[in-house]
Amino acid sequence: MSAKRGPSRPIIDESECKGCGRCVAACPKQVLRLSGRTNRRGYNAVEYVGEGCTGCFACFYNCPEPYALQVDDGRE
Ligand code: SF4
Ligand code: SF4
Repeated sequence: MSAKRGPSRPIIDESECKGCGRCVAACPKQVLRLSGRTNRRGYNAVEYVGEGCTGCFACFYNCPEPYALQVDDGRE
């Protein structure tokens, strides 16, 4: 395991998000929410509230869209 170098955070590509809300439901810290912004595909894209992410990857594993959501867990 490598050293922690910074805060964890979800990295969301709003243009790939389908607004299904699975990540919102899966996040144990409740730091994801539907943004109310309609993306280019017509979906209500998800956003990060900006703090509180623990890098648990629950959102990543529950997202059905391959390119919508990644997690920076703050490790090298
Ligand atoms: S990595 Fe975990 S805590 Fe961070 S946004 Fe995803 S589900 Fe929430
Ligand atoms: S699970 Fe994926 S597609 Fe669904 S709202 Fe979250 S980021 Fe968007």
